[in-house]
Amino acid sequence: MLQTKIIPSALTDQLKQDQLVKEIRALAKKRNAVILAHNYQIPEIQDVADFVGDSLGLSQQAHKTSADVIAFCGVHFMAETAAILCPDKRVLIPDLKAGCSLAESINIDQLRAWKAEHPNAIVVSYVNTTAEIKAETDYCCTSGNALKIVQSIPADKEILFLPDQFLGSWVQKMTGRKNMHIWMGECHVHSAVPPSKIDEKLKEYPEAELLIHPECGCLTPYLDRVIRQNGTCPLKVASTEGMMKQAHASSAKQFVVATEIGILHRLKKENPEKEFLPIDNEMSCKYMKMITLENLHNALKNDEFHVTVPEEIAKKAKLSIDRMISIV
Ligand code: SF4
Repeated sequence: MLQTKIIPSALTDQLKQDQLVKEIRALAKKRNAVILAHNYQIPEIQDVADFVGDSLGLSQQAHKTSADVIAFCGVHFMAETAAILCPDKRVLIPDLKAGCSLAESINIDQLRAWKAEHPNAIVVSYVNTTAEIKAETDYCCTSGNALKIVQSIPADKEILFLPDQFLGSWVQKMTGRKNMHIWMGECHVHSAVPPSKIDEKLKEYPEAELLIHPECGCLTPYLDRVIRQNGTCPLKVASTEGMMKQAHASSAKQFVVATEIGILHRLKKENPEKEFLPIDNEMSCKYMKMITLENLHNALKNDEFHVTVPEEIAKKAKLSIDRMISIV
């Protein structure tokens, strides 16, 4: 009698995934494509990518790649930045709907009106902005170099800092700069963490080191309180790449991580002997999670979706991005 072999569904899913990964790598080779993935991408995408990093790291990779195609596994403004830096390359994003609530928090008319109120100000924009906003910006920055960029601007110059209010407040606190105006934008993921979460987690894990992203809504009130109380501050404020470095360098064995939970995969993978705990399991960006193995496969196979920036805007935006890349 013929016997039917029953394959458990988890195993079939794994086989399908392995097959997709194999095909993605083969397509990337055939098309001379490089796959770039942000630290917040799902683990499967991080594992299939050629490079995983933060906005600055990925911009640098896009800048120097010799590939013909860049498959950008991140959100739309990141793919736009790659398209601006590499006008001769074909930049693809696997899902056009992968946007960013922070980038959406300021539009070009609002920026122009703000500039008109402060005609002599220098505009510093976090990289989480559209190409149009970057074109009206003097300096782009990431969370990794925002401090250095603001410090490099002469003290008597007024600054318009946008769009993230939490990163702006942190930079202002660290530099003591009074002539810095901050746009009240925020990211729906990072702003949702109240300062009480820090207390809660530190109480639960008293030995843990706290790694926190400057975009986090819990940071400024917590820092204010610590400074007021003149106590010690067991936290390291860092960009996602800064968190990776700190996790490697620190002698701590346990870390509480305050940023999007995608970063935990890389932290654990590169530091298997250490423990990483999310400050909040709900810190997940729905836009970052729109990129899947299936749509990455489709992007490389069917050449979708091509991200372009009009030449005039790209030319102006590139100046502010070049400044961002040169100050690390
Ligand atoms: S986590 Fe926030 S800032 Fe980052 S891409 Fe998502 S919405 Fe934008």
